[in-house]
Amino acid sequence: MRQNIVAGNWKMNKNLQEGVELAKELQSALQAEKPNCRVVIGTPFIHLTEVCKTVDQDLIGVSAQNCADQESGAYTGEVSAEMVKSTGARYVILGHSERRAYYGETNEILKTKTDLALKNELTPIFCIGEVLEEREADKHFEIVKSQIEEALFHLSADDFKKIVLAYEPVWAIGTGKTASPEQAQEMHAFIRKVLADKYGQDVADEISILYGGSCKPGNAKELFSNADVDGGLIGGASLKAEDFRGIISAF
Ligand code: 13P
Repeated sequence: MRQNIVAGNWKMNKNLQEGVELAKELQSALQAEKPNCRVVIGTPFIHLTEVCKTVDQDLIGVSAQNCADQESGAYTGEVSAEMVKSTGARYVILGHSERRAYYGETNEILKTKTDLALKNELTPIFCIGEVLEEREADKHFEIVKSQIEEALFHLSADDFKKIVLAYEPVWAIGTGKTASPEQAQEMHAFIRKVLADKYGQDVADEISILYGGSCKPGNAKELFSNADVDGGLIGGASLKAEDFRGIISAF
């Protein structure tokens, strides 16, 4: 059975003290009222060690937001998957549209990052999604399929089962414009079919596919109630414990 997951992506927000404070708040809130889904928080690199000490990862999994495409060595400013793992973090967000757009991450680079994450026993939360022009040109299915094929289809079925996918239509990120529940379900069902064609229905049915893009307490239930939407990857609304809890309690 696949897992329902609500994952926060803090992006470049919160200094170390604020991040630890938010993690503490979430920890006590979720201890008091156990969630009906897996909860993950994606923090900046420098927060990982402290946040891992602050939360019980059986309750709140800790994730990085990126890792390097090299194992180690002279790559100034980079942080390797092995380093992320050594903080205690269990997940890594890969291929976020902001990384693709602002830092030139291609499917080819993401293929290497995925391999390094898996080698270091991190669970990749792998992001895919089209920009507005691609949707308007009716190319969204094709784009999402090629993002998956080019970065992930070299994996064995056993490795693919370790991946969490996050469909984030770029036009819905931070814009307040959410994909409609029908648009989300249509794309998630399409993604599952792409996986089934490659790996078989059993594998496809085991993969959690999250929705991301202006997900809030007010629309989470409607989005998550779709058969192929297994939770969310949450940006803005993961920065306040109350909002994030509101989304978690949609399950
Ligand atoms: P928002 O929830 O702020 O739209 O961001 C979504 C996102 O990019 C999560 O990775």
